Amino acid sequence: MSRRISNNRTPLPALSLPPGALPPQDQGYEYDVELDPPAVEPIEHKIRLDFMAGGRIRRKDLLSEYNPWTYDPDAPDADPWASSGQRKPLGLTYAEVSCRQAIDEESEYFKKYEKEATVEDAPAFLAHRIRKAQEQPNPAHAIADERERRVSWYRKLIPGMTLYHVLKRSTFGSLILNGPSKTVDDYLRRNSFIGMVVVDDDVDPSRYAADLDLPEQFVIAESALSNSATDVAPQIEEFGIELPAPLLVGQYASGSRYPFLPWGDGLVCSCPYKHDKPWRVLCKHELLAAIVAGHDKSIFLPKTDGLEVPHRARRFVSPDIAASHSSR
Ligand SMILES: [Zn+2]
Repeated sequence: MSRRISNNRTPLPALSLPPGALPPQDQGYEYDVELDPPAVEPIEHKIRLDFMAGGRIRRKDLLSEYNPWTYDPDAPDADPWASSGQRKPLGLTYAEVSCRQAIDEESEYFKKYEKEATVEDAPAFLAHRIRKAQEQPNPAHAIADERERRVSWYRKLIPGMTLYHVLKRSTFGSLILNGPSKTVDDYLRRNSFIGMVVVDDDVDPSRYAADLDLPEQFVIAESALSNSATDVAPQIEEFGIELPAPLLVGQYASGSRYPFLPWGDGLVCSCPYKHDKPWRVLCKHELLAAIVAGHDKSIFLPKTDGLEVPHRARRFVSPDIAASHSSR
């Protein structure tokens, strides 16, 4: 059952929240690893909080040459910032600490994999994999394999194959100014977060706007958004969100417009980079969003233009993880 959030003071349609977008503690929360899009893992929320705490990133601290596909965490020159003598962005340093901590924190799930109470506490995807391993002829062996996969995610796929790539001049650098940008406000001169009503393609946006007495420029057909331009990026309804939906749409310096989808107690960017591989925990748009939210010291993204969408459409990070995580 989805839940509907409406604001009586505005004529906006209600935001339908699918069970997978509720906090895991909520009675209505439901998530099926096999059927639903990937959950927002605890480490994703932590990485966002780390970049929120780390502050603005200077263009000169971004990598110019870097190939994520050849990354080897055990190579002596594994850290491209150390080998180029550039200053490493603080948020990234924090995020790498969070990844190392996650390896330790998860060791309990593997040690006590036979106890259902322990497995229930694990992040959704890990719990699913542990249950699968329990069914194998040699569970101990399958559990050891799973542990290895998980450690490789935290040591290789997240830092070297995702975060370092996002922190390139050709990636995050495409969103920020070439010249000196001294404050986070400079980020918002080229990028904006717009409150919009997204309608289905069989609805005429201008007629819909006129019917609800909304400014026409803030009602948009999903086909006019960039997530519709490629098969890799999801359509909004794949996340169980019904249209019309009041959502926050990121409009970026690189020319694209991607809606943020309420999911896993936070938001997910709907760009193809993020969804092409399930292990990618951050895209350049989410990085920008994290730094902007961090500047405001808020887990909600600011609406820089457009309609007053429900708070849930702007809540970027899980409040529970924000309350318990400290970046170091
Ligand atoms: Zn994105």
